[in-house]
Amino acid sequence: MARTIQEWMTGLKAGELPTVEELAYLLTVRGDDSRLLLQAADSVRAAVMGDAVHIRGIIEFSNICRNDCLYCGIRRSNQTVTRYRIPDEEILETAAHAKEWGCGTVVLQSGEDPYYTAERISKLVRAIHAMDLAITLSLGVRPRAELAAFREAGADRYLLRFETCNREQFARLHPDAPFEERIRCLDDLRELGFQVGSGFMIGLPGASLEDLARDLLFTRQLQLDMIGCGPFLAHPDTPLRESGQLPDKSVYYHTIALLRLLNPHAHIPATTAFDALDKESGRNRVLEGGANVFMPNLTPGKYRKLYLLYPDKPCVDEEGGACMLCIRGRLRALGRKMATGRGDAWRLTNAGGNNA
Ligand code: SF4
Repeated sequence: MARTIQEWMTGLKAGELPTVEELAYLLTVRGDDSRLLLQAADSVRAAVMGDAVHIRGIIEFSNICRNDCLYCGIRRSNQTVTRYRIPDEEILETAAHAKEWGCGTVVLQSGEDPYYTAERISKLVRAIHAMDLAITLSLGVRPRAELAAFREAGADRYLLRFETCNREQFARLHPDAPFEERIRCLDDLRELGFQVGSGFMIGLPGASLEDLARDLLFTRQLQLDMIGCGPFLAHPDTPLRESGQLPDKSVYYHTIALLRLLNPHAHIPATTAFDALDKESGRNRVLEGGANVFMPNLTPGKYRKLYLLYPDKPCVDEEGGACMLCIRGRLRALGRKMATGRGDAWRLTNAGGNNA
């Protein structure tokens, strides 16, 4: 490649769209070039989204799932998992704590659990909405009518990762639902007025750097308000237990940096799985390389060990209050502050760096 990394960064900041091959090259830069890539992402994050870090507290309220995604530790075939549903009162109590602890948003996350009908979820959403918290749902693929009911009840946002835009790989990893259905769901969400989040898994078995580059470009196509990506980590109780990680760890971090450069206005979380990749420092590194959102796990302690989508999940022995203290410490060390508002999509606040 004839271009220097500085020229690449100038081009990306000006809105240039690299090709798949060019992105694959940028994912693997080394040494000073790697440092400059991460710095460029950090400076775009600071200029566009500001220094405040939005805190979205996750409540993993059911680990029951009808699906059998090959990489997932709570897939329906995994008989070693003790299944749970958190009673509504306990979910609402946790949401109230989230508010006290300074979260602007509560994320209700579960497997695709048919017990949670539109009516049951809407009831929870209404109660949390009344606490003056923004609500993100992450419940998997749902029919449009159910999504409409959630929106009507007061849900603001919805997260549904596409995981990979390679149709063949998607079909191999997700035996239960076609790719098109997931994209239909994302379209429905946008039309219904949700703030829409999606993302992909970095380093899926069998995926090439070019596949990763295509996933990065696909996020642009989807015009997302939030983009969550995390490393693939092989769970021992899944068919992918033998799969390894990318030989070059920096590719995981470069992916987030390029995500920021390609999507300057998106909320990008430092996802928990990065702390499993690099114990206790992974999420910090992501916050220093383009991310502006942190998603503490607020799931009550007794359920946490039962929601292991991947191995070595951090914070499973903590309670929500301890996680919040930990975050404050992390942000202080990074010279960042905790945002105080809801942290809505940039296109809605249109306040750029001031949307704290
Ligand atoms: S990834 Fe989600 S939908 Fe797939 S098995 Fe796991 S919880 Fe279920």
